[in-house]
Amino acid sequence: MSSKFIDFVKVGSKIVCVGRNYATHAKELGNALPTAPILFTKPTTCYVNDGGIIRYPSISSDLHYEVELGVIIGEKASQVSEDKIMNHVAGYTIAVDVTCRDIQEQCKKERIPWTMAKCLDTFCPVGNFVSSSEIDPFNTELVLKLNNELKQHGNTKDMIFSVPSLLEYINRHITLLPGDVILTGTPEGVGPLSRGDEIHVAIPNVTEATFHVE
Ligand code: MG
Repeated sequence: MSSKFIDFVKVGSKIVCVGRNYATHAKELGNALPTAPILFTKPTTCYVNDGGIIRYPSISSDLHYEVELGVIIGEKASQVSEDKIMNHVAGYTIAVDVTCRDIQEQCKKERIPWTMAKCLDTFCPVGNFVSSSEIDPFNTELVLKLNNELKQHGNTKDMIFSVPSLLEYINRHITLLPGDVILTGTPEGVGPLSRGDEIHVAIPNVTEATFHVE
């Protein structure tokens, strides 16, 4: 069963994102492997539905795509153990963590937060809701094509921190509410976007979504 993502998450309070969760992606950006999950958040004003527009912001000249598995919380979770946390998951979606890479690099250099690199309007395009029975979070393919050219093709089996370990880590200190979404990190192959581009993301044979850059 698939339904419009936005119908499901309208009660959600936040998007919690994970950085550097695939060794190959950490390496391509010259980052060390994390010893604990790296977390940041996006506001829900970042959402764009399938078929929508990603707005290229005037403050950046190096806007990047990052395809990610999105985990959608179904039941409130606070200090739930790793072996029980998956009972709080309602489903999944395919998502893009849109990032101003130039601003992020500047933020890293200045040791200031990534807000202006990660949290702008339209910076979290999402596909439809996919029920948890249709996805194996330990073995799910993620694909991103830019203007019909394959750019990212990863698998969640290569995550450094698995979905249940991420959720357990987050809900130890941050309560997860129904409709909250966790973006679980991107595999290798990230790269720049241009105005006029078409981004197509998919979990093959399960769900797909298309977005345009303006
Ligand atoms: Mg990301």
